[in-house]
Amino acid sequence: MTEIRIVGVIGAGTMGNGIAHVFARSGLRVLLCEVELRLLDRGLETILKNLGREAEKGKISLDEVDDALKRIEGTLDRGALADADFVIEAATERFEVKKTIFQELDKIARPKVILASNTSSISITKLAAQTGRPDRVIGMHFFNPVPVMKMVEVIRGLQTSQETYETVATLAEKLGKTAVEVNDAPGFVSNRVLMPLLNEAMYAVMEGVATADAVDEVFRLGMAHPMGPLTLADFIGLDVCLDIMRVLHEGLGDPKYRPCPLLVRMVDAGWLGRKSGRGFYTY
Ligand code: NAD
Repeated sequence: MTEIRIVGVIGAGTMGNGIAHVFARSGLRVLLCEVELRLLDRGLETILKNLGREAEKGKISLDEVDDALKRIEGTLDRGALADADFVIEAATERFEVKKTIFQELDKIARPKVILASNTSSISITKLAAQTGRPDRVIGMHFFNPVPVMKMVEVIRGLQTSQETYETVATLAEKLGKTAVEVNDAPGFVSNRVLMPLLNEAMYAVMEGVATADAVDEVFRLGMAHPMGPLTLADFIGLDVCLDIMRVLHEGLGDPKYRPCPLLVRMVDAGWLGRKSGRGFYTY
């Protein structure tokens, strides 16, 4: 098993900056790669803010904040990832975007390097097929917010080797996360089970069964969920929910996964949840 000392992270958005944060906290060097300086700076600022918050809460010392920050190097040059011992992609959830990234990474990264994806729903087997090392491609699906959530879904593509799986499961544990082994299928386990729940909650609102507030209250108070399904959908982003429902619908071919028409209408209107200021609730 190759020793992993330098990790490449592609994308400094919601997930990428969290992933860079936890790798740096575990003592690894991180090369964080973005397409635009503005987005890179925003990602680095978020890491600084989140590490600062951990220090305020007394979870880590100021020296540990400094050490973690020093281990992260931002770059707009994907070629810099030639130094990485492991690369994880957390770019936009579109197959065409990820396809290009995997084709390029396959040329840049050393042949033994494992290429992982944080995708929520895209086939790992299909991403692996873009490379000449399908045995070294795997899903490493973190949860939001990455520094807080304790689990990583580790997804085996059809050709992922046992050694690749073990390396990534061990890496997840080094980050203080529990690795759960899952096979490649649309939505894996997390989104295959979660998204239809959120989608069904939307149907209940659309059909006038109850208000969004009432649906959420049933889950918060009746089932001890920390957030109701519609609050959660707003938090994830309604566009992301719709993309994942489409992957489930297309990939599994069962009409029970059809996206709720209310969700489609809201995304068409630009009501994307928390990030756009309006979703099932107003922010
Ligand atoms: P995001 O839009 O916040 O961030 C994506 C970032 O990737 C953007 O900043 C974009 O500029 C960058 N990017 C796009 N193409 C790039 C390229 N070629 N090179 C470098 N950077 C590039 O999205 P996100 O919510 O962080 O999601 C990223 C991935 O993580 C997606 O695959 C998503 O499905 C998955 N995911 C998201 C969540 C969530 O709750 N948001 C949870 C688990 C997994």
